[in-house]
Amino acid sequence: ADIMRKLMDMGQMLTFNQTMNVDAAVMIAEENGIKIDISTEKAGEELLDSVVQTEEDLQLESRPPVVTIMGHVDHGKTSLLDAIRQTKVAEGEAGGITQHIGAYTVAVRGKQVTFLDTPGHEAFTAMRGRGAKITDIVILVVAADDGVMPQTIEAINHAKAASVSMIVAINKIDKPGANIDRVKNALSEHGLISESWGGDTIMVEVSAKEKTGLDTLLEMILLQAEVLELKADPHRLAKGVVVEAKLERGRGPVATVLVQSGTLRVGDVFVVGTFSGKVRALITHTGAKVQEAGPSIPVEVAGLPGVPSAGDVFQVVKDERVAREIAEDRARKQRTADLSGSAKVTLDDLFAKIKEGSVKELALVIKSDVQGSAEALTAGVEKLATDAVKLRVIHSGVGGITESDVLLAAASNAIVVGFNVRPEPKASALAEQQGVDIRLYTIIYDAMAEIKAAMEGLLEPTLKERMLGRAEVRQVFTVSKAGVIAGSYVVDGTITRAAVGVRVLRDNVVVYEGKLGSLRRFKDDVREVQQGYECGISVENFNDIKAGDIIEAYAIDKIAAKL
Ligand code: GDP
Repeated sequence: ADIMRKLMDMGQMLTFNQTMNVDAAVMIAEENGIKIDISTEKAGEELLDSVVQTEEDLQLESRPPVVTIMGHVDHGKTSLLDAIRQTKVAEGEAGGITQHIGAYTVAVRGKQVTFLDTPGHEAFTAMRGRGAKITDIVILVVAADDGVMPQTIEAINHAKAASVSMIVAINKIDKPGANIDRVKNALSEHGLISESWGGDTIMVEVSAKEKTGLDTLLEMILLQAEVLELKADPHRLAKGVVVEAKLERGRGPVATVLVQSGTLRVGDVFVVGTFSGKVRALITHTGAKVQEAGPSIPVEVAGLPGVPSAGDVFQVVKDERVAREIAEDRARKQRTADLSGSAKVTLDDLFAKIKEGSVKELALVIKSDVQGSAEALTAGVEKLATDAVKLRVIHSGVGGITESDVLLAAASNAIVVGFNVRPEPKASALAEQQGVDIRLYTIIYDAMAEIKAAMEGLLEPTLKERMLGRAEVRQVFTVSKAGVIAGSYVVDGTITRAAVGVRVLRDNVVVYEGKLGSLRRFKDDVREVQQGYECGISVENFNDIKAGDIIEAYAIDKIAAKL
């Protein structure tokens, strides 16, 4: 009880069967005149470090490139993946019946290329956020009839943030409306200049539908791979990344592992996430059972005791006992939420991190209601750079803050700045979970002043806004006395009269910010309306409400600055 009281004084609420940290143990012992020696036995990650081979004596050999396809929705990512798979896998391998294991390999003139099967930059950035860098080359698909679209730009910025080289596939050139020069022109505005125009970005014209240009695209991938000099040592204990994992009926948990170095073999002992086990079988994307898989080769692994997460590192170790210990240690840590302490940068702790030297650059993702303000804000904040910190806008765009924005921020340790826009509910939840700081402003000067103050450690106790409730406008009608009433349905939280303010959102862009006029249920004025109920809302001095708008009510809390 004495020790627990002491711990409580130190701000640590521990019960009998919890573990106290070393510092606390030493301090309590010293106060009681006891000297303790801390002897650490290697456990968990340290143990893993000690059994994994060092980088000495690497016998590097060239390995196939790993490719991810990105681009705007409907520009043909899936079609392109399928077209390459159909024409190339069938040619090169027996059977030709392909299995979807999350990645596949094709052979081109005796050389191999690996494609990751989940197109899109969200998956790519989510993996990167977990520390897994698996893609060597990004194929940016742009439809020739549609041109550069918002997600094309997002994909470019996600790939740039990850420093991955890009090859552009101009798709749908079979279509009558195809305009290749227009695509090249638009891409050049984003720093991708075609080789044929004297730049250094390889651009290939393809049609996933007619299966034309695929050979050239593959040749270019191989060429780029040669330039990148991709190498790995196949002669060591295998290490890879989980690209997909699932529970399969009759087979139990299976995971597709992309081997990154070493060679994975049947019978190998491994640890992945919080699981350890022994490789029972290795299956390729053609359904063939194989005995081993080398660098850049994806294989489905059977023999796992549970389903790991995509992005988990898969590490082969020599000793089964060691593998088990490492997995158990991780599981223990996860239980006590040791792993949750995310070290993402926020404006509140920016100054401390600058001083400590752990932050030398503040990365920002900027979203705004119109292009002009995004540009003004980008130009403004980039000028705030000092000798100690650079400011870098890694992505800016128009529209509400999406999950993709938060993923990019999480993976790049960036903060998200919204100007006259709001996060989508899913994006807010993800930001909370990932510890990503989202800052919302309605005045450009405020945004710059706050970032500047944060850089100088002068960030005042901030007034932080708290969302009270959101109502969706179902129908709008006019009442002679009261003006425009929005017949609404509360989708989240509670709309209250006490709210400091309300704002009207259309597609997550703020169209009006002001005060609540009236709040009614049937004919009665009410104080509040909870989630799941209908109500009539009017917004003071604002009559331009439309069905489909979101009315958001908020309060403002004063948050004391952290010491
Ligand atoms: P994703 O959303 O980027 O994965 O796009 P999809 O692969 O689903 O393709 C979207 C649509 O474009 C589908 O209807 C495809 O059939 C069509 N499409 C894809 N590639 C081509 C192409 O090269 N030419 C034509 N004409 N249509 C294509």
